[in-house]
Amino acid sequence: MDARSINPVSRARLSVMDSITAVPTPLNEPVLGYAPGSPERAQLEAQLASYAAADPAQWTGSINPSRPAATEWLDVVMPSDRHHRLGRVAQTSPADAKAAIDRICATAPDWAGLDFDSRAAVFLRAADLIAGPYRAQLNAATMLGQGKTVQQAEIDAVAELVDFLRFNVAYARQIHQVQPRSAAGAWNRSDYRPLEGFVYAVTPFNFTSIAGNLPTAPAIMGNVAMWKPAVTQQFAAQVLLDILAEAGLPDGVIALTPGHGTAISEAALVDPRLAGIHFTGSTRVFQQLWHEVGTNIARYRTYPRIVGETGGKDFVLVHPSADPEAVVAALVRGAFEYSGQKCSAASRAYVAKSVWERIVDQLVEVTNGLSIGDVRDLSHFTSAVIDQRAYLKLSAAIEEAKASPTAEIVAGGEYWDEPGWFVRPTIVKSSDPNSAGFTTEYFGPLLTVYVYPDSEWDSVLDLIDSTSPYALTGAVLSRDRSAIVTATTRLRQAAGNFYINDKPTGAVVDQQPFGGARASGTNDKAGSLWNMMRWTSPRSIKESLVAPRAIAYPHMA
Ligand code: NAD
Repeated sequence: MDARSINPVSRARLSVMDSITAVPTPLNEPVLGYAPGSPERAQLEAQLASYAAADPAQWTGSINPSRPAATEWLDVVMPSDRHHRLGRVAQTSPADAKAAIDRICATAPDWAGLDFDSRAAVFLRAADLIAGPYRAQLNAATMLGQGKTVQQAEIDAVAELVDFLRFNVAYARQIHQVQPRSAAGAWNRSDYRPLEGFVYAVTPFNFTSIAGNLPTAPAIMGNVAMWKPAVTQQFAAQVLLDILAEAGLPDGVIALTPGHGTAISEAALVDPRLAGIHFTGSTRVFQQLWHEVGTNIARYRTYPRIVGETGGKDFVLVHPSADPEAVVAALVRGAFEYSGQKCSAASRAYVAKSVWERIVDQLVEVTNGLSIGDVRDLSHFTSAVIDQRAYLKLSAAIEEAKASPTAEIVAGGEYWDEPGWFVRPTIVKSSDPNSAGFTTEYFGPLLTVYVYPDSEWDSVLDLIDSTSPYALTGAVLSRDRSAIVTATTRLRQAAGNFYINDKPTGAVVDQQPFGGARASGTNDKAGSLWNMMRWTSPRSIKESLVAPRAIAYPHMA
């Protein structure tokens, strides 16, 4: 072939556009208020009613819907009305998972071969569909399926998910622009390749945004992903899958494999094509996955990237100088929004005695006054916990506190399981700072408080740092600058997200990149440049503009 002719392979590229474009500048999606009489409230209420009246759905995700009827089906119910079945979901078998992996790996070259702008446009369109025509649907599915109030659904399923999609496109573009220097006679380039294989995205029940982010972040970087959502999050996961399809995501880029994880991991973790795990969930499951990867390490074509955001035992530290009203707000909102089922929720507090004496009456009154009920009644502050397992774990912890000689229930303490799994926001005051309330992640509306003598401020810092294995979020409340500086310094490794005079929850994409270290994860900060960098395997290219011919060196003369 003539050296100057164009190789036909280059014509197989799916799209051609010679430009370095500027992606739309992302802004955080506004959170709507759903006040009585607002148009968004009317739309949402109609959607809730329509979903609740519908016959139970049948969800198969991306696995073949026409496979044998012997499939195992799992029920998905409303946490606040547990007899109300929203649908049933097919359990992915190891053979289904293997078929899904084959499918996405077959799609991988085409997806990676598509230019960045064409890939990015799919996710920008998905963001606009969520913010616009699908807002009520995704919110309603998240409310009914995951037991969220409208405020909690709106900040998660809409605002944060839209932010993840829009900002991740911008971060990916920033990464592409990082290019090496070139010395005279050469042109150096960085090629941001996707990983060689597939990413296994395993997502938790408590955030629709995280469920959407874990498979889409790698996909924006050109990867294909197998997405295993929590069974209890399946309703919103399915709505999101439909939105991605409408946005133009080609078939086989993200395969949703529903059901419990063990059967799916059986296929995924032994597959030589496993190139990454993007996980959010409990520390126990993450460690189990990592362990399996270690056991199978010689099988893989490439070392899998492992990114995991896991549990927390998040603290609020109250200095004697703190503003009492701000303390009550930080504790109540930080511990009890979404019934404490946020990885960042305050679950242990260390309160100076002088402040405790001033706030305890108000704290108890506000906590006991929080309304709790069905998510379809928008007047409630919170709702049921996610499932029976969570309910049993939390009710057992409350009974243990009642029986403990070192603990006293100062607010809440009641639970009931009709018509849903309800646990009243509960505050336990404990005189034993090493008891389970300060170390165990219960993942519910349970706040344990240690009241320390004002003079022990210094030693309480060490106590916080050493009591729990986690290091996700924490907050200090103080009006004394030197105390703020001391806490910020001494608790440097105790939290990946640290708050001063605020609650330890509510991180916003691009404002407080989120994640923690120690037992709380790999701290790759979901929705950030650092996270997106984990999904690319850069290739360095050097091109000599005039090919060198010399062989001998001067010293050889
Ligand atoms: P979980 O660990 O029980 O489940 C997480 C996911 O893992 C689910 O999809 C589950 O089905 C799956 N899973 C379980 N065993 C598996 C296996 N062997 N193979 C593959 N998948 C498997 O967690 P959860 O109850 O859904 O969520 C709550 C936990 O998540 C809490 O510990 C919370 O702190 C944590 N969390 C952390 C963050 C963070 O950013 N750090 C955010 C949200 C939730």
